[in-house]
Amino acid sequence: MATDIFWKIFLFILGSTVGSFLNVVIYRVPRRISIVYPSSHCPQCGNSIRWFDNIPLLSYLFLRGKCRYCALKISFQYFLVELISGFLFLFLFSKYQFTPYFFIYLMLSLDLVIISFIDWEHYLIPDIFTLTLIPLGFAVSFFFPSLYGAGLSPIRAFYSSLLGGVIGFISLLLIGLLGKVLFRKESMGGGDLKLLAGIGCFIGVKGVLLTIFVSSITGAIVGGILLAIKLKKKGEYIPYGPFLALGALVYILWGKWIAGFFSF
Ligand SMILES: [Zn+2]
Repeated sequence: MATDIFWKIFLFILGSTVGSFLNVVIYRVPRRISIVYPSSHCPQCGNSIRWFDNIPLLSYLFLRGKCRYCALKISFQYFLVELISGFLFLFLFSKYQFTPYFFIYLMLSLDLVIISFIDWEHYLIPDIFTLTLIPLGFAVSFFFPSLYGAGLSPIRAFYSSLLGGVIGFISLLLIGLLGKVLFRKESMGGGDLKLLAGIGCFIGVKGVLLTIFVSSITGAIVGGILLAIKLKKKGEYIPYGPFLALGALVYILWGKWIAGFFSF
């Protein structure tokens, strides 16, 4: 019991530290800046961020979200990504302990965090974060078939992975075409298609179906709220990637529990 609590605290701290790195990736990759050079610095005054100002979660709180030197406001997103990353480590460990599932789903979850924040800001998802999921998903299905259903053979699991990818791609393609016909505007980006194909390959048929279900409901609710509080104007584009990511995370963390309700 004591060791369990130790691991949870340790993994939360480790997770928030990894979150700091995710922040670097989220900021730099879409701007085509190297993720190793130069080291982190304030975009306004150019001062390097010292190690004691780079402690996950705590530094943001101590500095009250401002640069130590020039008081430039630091985006709350940095804190949020570190917090989410910490909780992902914690939740995934609580559910899967130190099994291969933990590491596999952790990899996918962190990728989904990166994708969500890049898509939210830039309305695009770099291929490297989505297309990579397809071969990785195939490999995972073959070597860890029980992830796709108890007692599945590697071939059957691979089939679920392949079918999951195809369903993901085609369903969004159809929704996108429908949107084009009905509303005469682009509602689904190519990045979304590749993302759901990658998610499908990684979590199989059941996973991709739940992802579509959860993402469409949460997307509609959040879209409605954003319109209501006037953060978005009518007809303005709302990126769909974060909702697909959320759907996949819901499956990873609570999929079995939800499947029990609908017995599918
Ligand atoms: Zn500064």
